[in-house]
Amino acid sequence: MTLLDNRPSDPAKLIEGRTGPWEIILGLEVHAQVASKAKLFSGAAVGFGAGPNEQVSLVDAAMPGMLPVINRYCVEQAVRTGLGLQAQINAWSRFDRKNYFYPDLPQGYQISQFKDPIVGEGEITVERDDGSTFVVRIERLHLEQDAGKSIHDLDPDWTYVDLNRAGTALMEIVSRPDMRSSDEAAAYVKKLRTILRYLGTCDGDMEKGNLRADVNVSVRRPGGDLGTRCEIKNVNSYRYIQQAIEYEARRQIEILEEGGSIAQETRLFDPTKGETRSMRSKEEAHDYRYFPDPDLLPLELDEAWIAAIKAGLPELPDAKMARLQAQYGLSAYDARVLAIDIARADFFERAAEGRDAKLVANWTTNNLLARLAEAGLDIDESPIPARDIAGLVKLIEDGVISSKIAKEVFEHMWAGEGEPAAIVEARGLVQVTDTGAIEAAVDAIIAANPDKAEAVKTRPQAIGWFVGQVMRETGGKANPAAVNDILKARLGVE
Ligand code: MN
Repeated sequence: MTLLDNRPSDPAKLIEGRTGPWEIILGLEVHAQVASKAKLFSGAAVGFGAGPNEQVSLVDAAMPGMLPVINRYCVEQAVRTGLGLQAQINAWSRFDRKNYFYPDLPQGYQISQFKDPIVGEGEITVERDDGSTFVVRIERLHLEQDAGKSIHDLDPDWTYVDLNRAGTALMEIVSRPDMRSSDEAAAYVKKLRTILRYLGTCDGDMEKGNLRADVNVSVRRPGGDLGTRCEIKNVNSYRYIQQAIEYEARRQIEILEEGGSIAQETRLFDPTKGETRSMRSKEEAHDYRYFPDPDLLPLELDEAWIAAIKAGLPELPDAKMARLQAQYGLSAYDARVLAIDIARADFFERAAEGRDAKLVANWTTNNLLARLAEAGLDIDESPIPARDIAGLVKLIEDGVISSKIAKEVFEHMWAGEGEPAAIVEARGLVQVTDTGAIEAAVDAIIAANPDKAEAVKTRPQAIGWFVGQVMRETGGKANPAAVNDILKARLGVE
């Protein structure tokens, strides 16, 4: 099959080799573990952290005579995901055996889908960091079993096998080769993960291996024919995806510039060295001797059932981003930062209820998210709950505290000192709006600095010095608007 190129060369994405510019062509196969309590073809539990081989049924261990039974919920999750990717749902699909030998695959084959996957073509709109977007076409999504795990480092002489993962349901989501840089590949995986988490069909936990990418990398001269690709298996962080691509593209360019050719192969990324190395020469589909699994009937989906799943879809990230802008007047940037994580968007909407939404967005993105990132925390681990961000914004709206004091209050909130109103009360941070007190401070400062007061008459912008003095005098608690008004009146400035 020839994969058609969807995008013209973008000069900004080309990388310079010794003999001229090159273009990187990237397609990804993402394996996403289906969020489900049980495995794809057995009732064994799916869970992280169980003891070795504690979650293995006779089916998973491939005992003779055991038969697979399809898990309806996993099928539903695959359909839900297909709908979320705006993809074709195939009412008729089929499971095939993909034959290969590996110690962690007791059946001697993986039950997968080959010619007739459950989900066909779809697409995802991906945002770059600068806010621009590009489209990645989805070629297909199919259901398949995961393998177990060989453990080589527990014993010097023996390899152990843990079959807990064997039989766990995976969705393999295959993109078209529509990405042109390591940044775009990482942005695509991020967006895909966001959609899966909105849908609740995969938890997206990359550290646990629940979302991992096989990255197909090739290079070509801009506008030229597609080059031979290498596949880098099982890369499980955004950073590794980017490092693996950068290294692999450079490796291929060097070979080609020296007159060599690229061998199609499967490679592994070594994160400690930042390099890819050859794992095996790439096998073709016919090497696996695919054939329909005789233990399973074709999967036939009822149109009404698909329609019901579609009707139950949640609001998806693109729709949420648009709504956050329309409903709350947020910038595209703030909307994107909040919508990228459904927990962030929920947090924001809870805090914004009845408040100045732009202020809430500022405090959430500029202050809270920044502090959470420093501390390595997700928003659902935030020491400051949404109602306290709302409380802080209310104090600013009501003129009880200035934005400057709010920063100080925020620090006390972060330190776990409780609700913002209580902190302001206990620490005496209430803004001074009593004009008498401000007037007294203004008069004292003018009296002590007659030369500066005179200068303001010819250079009105010098009033800023007085504002600073009054704020210092009042411990930052004076209402800035009142300070300005009083100063202008006293100094005779318009
Ligand atoms: Mn696969």
